[in-house]
Amino acid sequence: MSGQLRLMSVHAHADDETITMGGLLATCADRGVRTANVCCTDGKLATIVAPDMPEETTRPRLAEIRQEELRAACAILGVAEVHFLGYGDSGMWGADTNQLDGAFWKVDVNEAVGRLVALIRRFRPHVVVTYDGVGGYGHPDHIQTHRVALLAVEAAHMKSLYPEAGEPWRVTKLYYTSIPLSFLKKYAEMAKEAGMPPPFGVENPEELPFVTPDEWITTTVDVRAGIPRKRRALLAHHSQITPDWPMLAVPEQVSIEHFGDEAYQLVISHVPTTLPETDVFAGIEAEEAVAV
Ligand SMILES: [Zn+2]
Repeated sequence: MSGQLRLMSVHAHADDETITMGGLLATCADRGVRTANVCCTDGKLATIVAPDMPEETTRPRLAEIRQEELRAACAILGVAEVHFLGYGDSGMWGADTNQLDGAFWKVDVNEAVGRLVALIRRFRPHVVVTYDGVGGYGHPDHIQTHRVALLAVEAAHMKSLYPEAGEPWRVTKLYYTSIPLSFLKKYAEMAKEAGMPPPFGVENPEELPFVTPDEWITTTVDVRAGIPRKRRALLAHHSQITPDWPMLAVPEQVSIEHFGDEAYQLVISHVPTTLPETDVFAGIEAEEAVAV
């Protein structure tokens, strides 16, 4: 094999890749790591926040618009491949739209896993990154993405599973994106001092359903070099993200200081690594060198 390292991110909607791990994707590109992003749904039920995109004319084209926005964001982040599984957006948790035909929440998981297995076997990522069991924050499409990604990573190296989907490939490490509690506490303090609203409108971050306890964080990556590109990629998701988004509402230098670390949980590793890590490829490069 070529020896080039590869990372695949698996997300529910266009914009999740940038919000949760845009810095990692940008810094991967800087070091020659080939990246691929898989977007599971069309995102057509999302709230449209752009003031210049009226609901009645934008909604019918939203799936297409979000594809374009994702391609633009991924180009900024140096993502080499962008794949769309094209399932229907399920809407927020508990909405009637969760039950619609074609909604990702209702799809045949086996079929979706098979499609992701085919992508994994073709791209052969050393590292896969997706959400934790609550999908980061409880959105049904994120939970389904977690399930499909986890099963696909496990199935991809079993040659008796999905034999039509290509030659088996074993992903070396699987990570979940994370927001550590300590980060949100720090951010809440900063917002208070600046007279800004608390993160996610909640004074005490411990009450938020999606914080990750700090002791679960295995890997903190310095992505400061990628923050200016992450900011531009956020803005590329014009239908979804306005310039008052937390990372964008502050000057660039402040965002580099405050949002310069991205946190991940290592959940599967087939190589020895010493925790805590500062690199998702820790332990892999040496093995690659032997294999080349
Ligand atoms: Zn999402």
